[in-house]
Amino acid sequence: MERRTFLELLAAGVITAATATAAGFLVPRLIEDKNAAGFGTQGSPLPKMARDDTVYPTGQPFVFDAPSITKIPVPYGTINAIPEFPGTFALTVDDGISSEVVREYTRFCKRTGMRMTFFVTGQYPSWADNASALRPLVESGQVQLANHTWSHPSLLKTSDGGVTDELGKTHDFLFKTYGVDGTPYFRPPFGNHDARVDSIAARLGYTTPVMWHGSLSDAGQITPEQLREFAHKWIGEQRIVIGHANFPAVTQCFDYITELIQERKLQPVTLNDLFLKA
Ligand SMILES: [Zn+2]
Repeated sequence: MERRTFLELLAAGVITAATATAAGFLVPRLIEDKNAAGFGTQGSPLPKMARDDTVYPTGQPFVFDAPSITKIPVPYGTINAIPEFPGTFALTVDDGISSEVVREYTRFCKRTGMRMTFFVTGQYPSWADNASALRPLVESGQVQLANHTWSHPSLLKTSDGGVTDELGKTHDFLFKTYGVDGTPYFRPPFGNHDARVDSIAARLGYTTPVMWHGSLSDAGQITPEQLREFAHKWIGEQRIVIGHANFPAVTQCFDYITELIQERKLQPVTLNDLFLKA
């Protein structure tokens, strides 16, 4: 990670520790959704747009199109941001505690063409509950599913066999329920991983831990107003932003997020839109 970015994160209070990797780079260790991060410093919410399924009937053009990108080989090792492709933006949404929120994300993607990646925590029923609505979007490549473990433990405190089980169970679930292979992308719960975790994951094909640069800070409950401030602060070029399908605040922010992405002339992408699997 370049120095400027590191300092930005540090200043925003997102970084709580930094460790040098074997390669000698500074890699931020991020705590998922530390609500302190720079909230309330920029901008004000845009007017809400009246967009729903009734004004976007089937056959209408989407707000967002599929990107036209020449893919590059998937990076090996941790990614925190999109390494190339100016103008792209990756929304990555974790957990899925709320079936209703997963359903609303699905509807949001369906009506706008929004491209995004879910990091699925397999234990939550939301992923099976919403499978029939989500599956066509997954099959078309508009929505990607990747691995966020089965029960969301800190993998630093999980045995070698436990790490294998956690990733393996969700891997199997994704294959059985959606017919997709979640590799090579996994997101370690709380952002907690180390060389041991990464090497066990890599043996299962999960060679790319996906961290983030910017958070909607909604793993826990916040207000829609707070969430819009985080969106305003973090949604940007070559950013990987983390959100959560846990609490309903975000469902009141989809129009705002759509406006931001349009206004900033960003192309939403999945990870598979960018990278060729090895
Ligand atoms: Zn999580």
